[in-house]
Amino acid sequence: MARIETIGDVVDWGLCVGCGGCFHACDRQAVELVHIPQTGIRPRFTGDCENCTRCLDICPGHRIELNGSATGEAGPVLEIWQGHASDPEVRYKGSSGGVLSALSLYCLEQGGMGQVLHSAMDPTEPWKNRTVASRSRTEILARSGSRYAPSSPCDGLRTVEESAAPSVFIGKPCDTAAVAMLRRDNPDLDRKLGLVLSFFCAGTPSTDGTLTLAGALGFETQKIREVRYRGEGWPGDFKILAGDGSSASLSYMDSWSRLTKYRPFRCNLCPDGLGATADISCGDAWHAYEGGGQAGTSLVLVRTELGRVVLRKAMEAGYVTLAPSSEGAVLRAQAGLVDRKRNVFGRLLAMRMMAIPAPRFPGFGLFRCWAQLSLARRARSVVGTLRRLVRRRAWKKNGLLEPNAG
Ligand SMILES: Cc1cc2nc3c(=O)[nH]c(=O)nc-3n(C[C@H](O)[C@H](O)[C@H](O)COP(=O)(O)OP(=O)(O)OC[C@H]3O[C@@H](n4cnc5c(N)ncnc54)[C@H](O)[C@@H]3O)c2cc1C
Repeated sequence: MARIETIGDVVDWGLCVGCGGCFHACDRQAVELVHIPQTGIRPRFTGDCENCTRCLDICPGHRIELNGSATGEAGPVLEIWQGHASDPEVRYKGSSGGVLSALSLYCLEQGGMGQVLHSAMDPTEPWKNRTVASRSRTEILARSGSRYAPSSPCDGLRTVEESAAPSVFIGKPCDTAAVAMLRRDNPDLDRKLGLVLSFFCAGTPSTDGTLTLAGALGFETQKIREVRYRGEGWPGDFKILAGDGSSASLSYMDSWSRLTKYRPFRCNLCPDGLGATADISCGDAWHAYEGGGQAGTSLVLVRTELGRVVLRKAMEAGYVTLAPSSEGAVLRAQAGLVDRKRNVFGRLLAMRMMAIPAPRFPGFGLFRCWAQLSLARRARSVVGTLRRLVRRRAWKKNGLLEPNAG
């Protein structure tokens, strides 16, 4: 059976999530990150990595561990809230209720933190993202909203280490999983991470997804001046602005249903759609959505004691307006992500049956989740994956590099 022995194996077997953690972990500058339009941001190795497995040890593509006691379907959670940014402008600009931006503002303005490390549109190539450090309300607001395209926020963790004051980090669940592993044996990073925020995530479409959508709206790549995926209302539209001032948009539902076809296969194997390794994780309160024109509402999962303290202070200081919610609400709002988690055990089993290296997720209770499915659905999770793996000839390295494609 093929095994994952190097970080190069993670990439070649299609398991890389593109977080940028290996770039940060390598103190020999042997890793650079390249942008591949069909798949995402991936490491390329410029030095001799033969005997070094440092970055494999912190690679969430290879392994994500959940510590602590057995947890419910939403993962380890201390409190569940529902609500929005109190400031109507922050709420309007945000993807759902603007809670991530509001918490960032609280941390900057009253929480003694110096910067927020997160992801934003790359102004020189707006169909891509770049990692940014925001230090003001203007920057936070300009960079709010989800970007359904590859991002590698861990590549900016050096600025966190070097910053005088602690920082907020915002990333996808796989990014915060990398951060959790990186900080374990990096005391500087550990001390300087003031708060780690994440969001619910169904997977990251490749850049080809964005460019195909822009093309369908009549925009050639070089004419694009701005890409917005959502926000400015709930859920907000996918919008392209061109250099000549023209623009076009697609509804969120329409654009997301097209973009999902460009997610990497690895995203189908992710049991962590609800951001279990962050201090606080936010997502859409879809169960409360009643139609267009409604102001955004988020679900807020508090994962750690630190998250609990910061959220309480942000509420008291008037940055967020929240009411208690429940795990039942999370399961109703995020049925797709819950269903994906229930299927992961069967999908991984299919990979192992074909001797294809699979990621490991100790502590997620995946067998328990899978056992909740009917017998027919359990069988389908295995047989359907076997079919996909055969179609892709996935027993060969590089077989899983192409996006979803069924
Ligand atoms: C790829 C992707 C898939 C998602 N899937 C789901 C889903 O299935 N269900 C669900 O409820 N929610 C999903 N979300 C999250 C959702 O879109 C909102 O981010 C969430 O509801 C929080 O909204 P907010 O208004 O509090 O955030 P905002 O106040 O708008 O702040 C968003 C923050 O996220 C950061 N960010 C945006 N895009 C990225 C990115 N690609 N990588 C790293 N950081 C980024 C921004 O820099 C900003 O700081 C997804 C988001 C992304 C990027």
